[in-house]
Amino acid sequence: MDLDAMVRDAVRGRSIPREGALELLAADDARTLPIVAAAGRVRRHFFGTGVRLNHLVSLRSGMCPEDCSYCSQALGSSAEIPRYTWLDDEQVHESVEEGIARGASTICLVASGRGPSPRETARVAGLVARIHREHPEVHLCACLGLLDEDRAAILREAGVDRYNHNLNTARSHYGEICTSHGYDDRAATVRAVRRAGISPCSGLIAGMGESDEELVDVTFALRELGVGSVPVNFLLPFEGTSLAGHRELTPQRCLRILSMVRLVHPDVEVRSAAGREYHIRTLQPLVLEVANSIFLGDYLTSEGGPGRDDLAMIADLGFHVEGAGAEAGTICLGDGQAGPGARRPSRLDAAGVPLRRRGPGIPRAATS
Ligand code: SF4
Repeated sequence: MDLDAMVRDAVRGRSIPREGALELLAADDARTLPIVAAAGRVRRHFFGTGVRLNHLVSLRSGMCPEDCSYCSQALGSSAEIPRYTWLDDEQVHESVEEGIARGASTICLVASGRGPSPRETARVAGLVARIHREHPEVHLCACLGLLDEDRAAILREAGVDRYNHNLNTARSHYGEICTSHGYDDRAATVRAVRRAGISPCSGLIAGMGESDEELVDVTFALRELGVGSVPVNFLLPFEGTSLAGHRELTPQRCLRILSMVRLVHPDVEVRSAAGREYHIRTLQPLVLEVANSIFLGDYLTSEGGPGRDDLAMIADLGFHVEGAGAEAGTICLGDGQAGPGARRPSRLDAAGVPLRRRGPGIPRAATS
């Protein structure tokens, strides 16, 4: 494995060769740190020491008619997650303001479901327009499921910069994880979004029984689709889902996967998304050597680590938060009682996944 040659390719904005990507995944643990260091050179070349913080707002949670086996919100999932229909506008507003105060430069509005109806598209467009008016410096991402170009254009018009729709896994593995829609449906959404002038955000979930070849396939497929941001998720095996308790990842393997994604996508945002805290644990500072973007605070249905710890980790590494709150010096670390700054122990399911039981959509009485 010639890591120097890989770095030379990558800093020219070229993906490393497929064989190199496979070598990274097949490497043993003793090679993890040199691999992370190589990916880190590329990360610093394109993104310096900046870290983009993303804040999720789950507009609608659970009750999805699709059967994605990894998803706690899917049809048939009995995971103990928040289930609610659309948040009202003020709940959204409150959560958005909290995210921005904590330093988020991107707000991600997410709704469970196959895809938005015309009414739902209009509703999200209204929310986006308000946020855009009040915080023109903040990037806005929507994640609403399958989308055609017309609906994407409505969102674009309202101010959506980015649309998230993950490929999740390789075409050859897709039928194993979902039957209610296909890989091609997902790829078509990514293309439609791009045609409408929105930057596609699309990534993968590792740890669902896929082979190294399949991980590499989906990573290169994302490159071919021209995505502008690649979220890398590590499976959270919620109790009550088909993949409950499924654990095949180690912290070092996660770091090699992230590094492989960075070296295939040298010049675009790579985000360490769900599963960071659960799988990478004490090695999380190394994540930032490779990824230039993370979620701060909670995920859709699971709790993340305390936001103040992530901000301290960024500062301790000598990195800096990119974004409006950071530049204005207005980042709020949280009060330690609620929200992503909280120290309260999370409630874990039988697989050890921390269940979200705070934030929008959760009755206040349930948060104590
Ligand atoms: S479509 Fe989205 S919300 Fe629905 S089950 Fe699949 S991943 Fe979950």
